[in-house]
Amino acid sequence: MTSEVRAVPLDTAACGLVDTHCHLDAAEFDLDRGAVVAAAMRGGVTAFVVPAVSVSGFALTQSMQSLYPACRYALGIHPLYVGVAVDEDLDRLDQALSDGGQIAVGEIGLDFFVPDADRARQTAFFRAQLKLARRYDLPVILHGRQALDAVLKCLREIPVAGGIAHAFNGSRQQADEFIRLGFVLGFGGAMTWTRATRIRALATSLPAHALVLETDAPDIPPEFVGRGRNMPEYLPRIAAVLAELRGVGCDEVAAVTTANACRVLPGLFSA
Ligand SMILES: [Zn+2]
Repeated sequence: MTSEVRAVPLDTAACGLVDTHCHLDAAEFDLDRGAVVAAAMRGGVTAFVVPAVSVSGFALTQSMQSLYPACRYALGIHPLYVGVAVDEDLDRLDQALSDGGQIAVGEIGLDFFVPDADRARQTAFFRAQLKLARRYDLPVILHGRQALDAVLKCLREIPVAGGIAHAFNGSRQQADEFIRLGFVLGFGGAMTWTRATRIRALATSLPAHALVLETDAPDIPPEFVGRGRNMPEYLPRIAAVLAELRGVGCDEVAAVTTANACRVLPGLFSA
């Protein structure tokens, strides 16, 4: 299934925007998924990366690419889904990765924000998935919340082929360490909130080669949406916020962030 779909090259010439983190497979899009994709593409989004969160959702995540050829997918077990995962799910992930078609392992990482987080189990699953990323020579899409130093520690012990630290919300020092380990940092809706001074300062001052854009739709709505459902069609406005913060044109932001996405996710535009 996926190999034929993957043979459709995405339109790099248009140098559109890449939504590097978009949960299009989420139930929030069940009623209007096609319209959501079409609206984003009309606005200049030329590619979507859909990360899985649990093994039970792999088939649906994979189907996004066959339904919408501008989609690519990543397979992994999200730290907040480790609680409902069984150990055998790691074998199922291994099997799915060996079948091919994915462009990354993700969404994986550590989330110590939730009060009842089982840190040991999250860490065990994260480490096992980093080893799978190494085995299949795949980049990873990272989720880290209240746990970035622990994520970095795992990455130093189990180095992988880079990737994206999604929804980055850490310090400059942590950002520099991710960059040193081959990662770029994902910026999206959180950056658009005027009160998010630390994230906005990072988006302004980090080197351009370290930035990619994302929506994390349906989560993390931008300030201009408020509390509503986030959608990939908002990515151009998110890009405009980044351009304004950095004092450059939207075209430059699009070109640089798309090039960065292609660099860290080599499967993104491959035929
Ligand atoms: Zn996510």
